[in-house]
Amino acid sequence: MQQFPIPSVIQRFSQQFKQAGFSLYIVGGAVRDHLLGISNEDFDFTTDAKPEEVMSLFKAVIPTGIDHGTVTVRYEKHSFEVTTFRSEGSYQDGRHPSSVTFITNLEEDLKRRDFTINAFAVDLNDSKIIDLCGGKKDLKNRIIRAIGNPEERFEEDGLRILRACRFAGKLNFIIEEDTLKAMHTCRENLLNVSSERIREELFRLVLSDHPEVGLNYMRECGILPIILPELAAGDQIDQKGMHHEDVLSHAITTCQASVALSDRLEVRLAALFHDIGKSEVMEEGAERNTFYNHDLVGEKLTIKVMRRLKASNEQIRLVSLLVRHHMFSYQSNWSDSAVRRFLTRVGKEHVGMLFSLRIADQIAIHGKADIRLLEELEERIKGILDAQDALSIKDLAVNGNDLMKAGIPKGKQLGRTLDYLLETVLDDPAQNTKEQLLEIAKNYQSFSTFTS
Ligand code: ATP
Ligand code: MG
Repeated sequence: MQQFPIPSVIQRFSQQFKQAGFSLYIVGGAVRDHLLGISNEDFDFTTDAKPEEVMSLFKAVIPTGIDHGTVTVRYEKHSFEVTTFRSEGSYQDGRHPSSVTFITNLEEDLKRRDFTINAFAVDLNDSKIIDLCGGKKDLKNRIIRAIGNPEERFEEDGLRILRACRFAGKLNFIIEEDTLKAMHTCRENLLNVSSERIREELFRLVLSDHPEVGLNYMRECGILPIILPELAAGDQIDQKGMHHEDVLSHAITTCQASVALSDRLEVRLAALFHDIGKSEVMEEGAERNTFYNHDLVGEKLTIKVMRRLKASNEQIRLVSLLVRHHMFSYQSNWSDSAVRRFLTRVGKEHVGMLFSLRIADQIAIHGKADIRLLEELEERIKGILDAQDALSIKDLAVNGNDLMKAGIPKGKQLGRTLDYLLETVLDDPAQNTKEQLLEIAKNYQSFSTFTS
């Protein structure tokens, strides 16, 4: 029988249980990933000790999911999730177990897990890997298979349908036929799952090595229109012209291409959503269809989708900004002031992500990206940043106070004057001195008083 290399901190941790007469097992992803040769430091445990008993064994225990028998133990600077063996009654609303019965039986505990490859356990007494659900065979054949009757399992918890896609993306595995069929049959159960749980799985799928595999399974089993209808609307939308794929397939291919370019969630999501506005604005033409303003509409839809998923404000801001600006078309004849304006619009800290998105988009369309122009733009941006040219109002040599002291009234007029000064120095950075800007501000002030 295969052995699991148990880190010394976990050996000490398990001693505490043993001395009190309880058993402790490592379960879930850490065991699966070890068998696959992938590192995974996220250890989950299961035990026959009741949550109160676990709490009495350690000083720092947080009752994170006490209703489900889960507590988090702080032990030697680690956080370990410990769940008491349980078998769950039906999840009547697909969300919460209607009854949680604690049972002293590891087998029952493993059988209530989602997929065979997630149902391994390591006995901490002898380091042996326990496989009661045929997980090793499925790992070998690279298959994701629900434990027991797949329809029943997806009725209990609709999120498992998305988790199957997520693990297919993480591991580049195939979903077993009956499991996939049941995913389709039970797809509407995802309507009962909270946005937070969906977001966690979807984001992990997008961050996996093979999002294309997971996203195509989402498409195939029919959950894409349930979770991301705005994206699914691109299905079968033909672009004609240079694109060989429909809008949805192109989005999925771009997301996959972004994997090699960035580990950032925001870039991966922007790759997936960059053309999300196309289905709304399409106008059919004989040779090619047109999609005017799809970047603006895409920004709006991205915000809508990400709000629904309860993503953080910062995630929403970044992804929608990338979608909004993905159509920039740099040419060598851009003036320096055009490059500065580009930086002002996009924000210098976002340029790297926007370039990754552009390259992914190009690779998805042409199979490769011509990055010569991007490199040229990058060089020019570097020159502007090295020269510390002003790119925003806060970089100006004057601030609001200076202008008020010079007699410009607070309020709209002050804001307008600062905008005007920024426009001026974007055109000509040499104007960015206090003296010069105060002069320009006064002239602008008298001009606008005169014209208003
Ligand atoms: P990863 O390494 O990507 O976190 P994981 O297998 O550890 O993968 P988790 O979501 O952390 O995945 O869940 C830990 C374990 O808990 C799983 O391996 C599985 O046994 C069980 N599990 C988690 N969510 C569910 C669920 N919705 N239904 C059934 N079992 C689940
Ligand atoms: Mg985990």
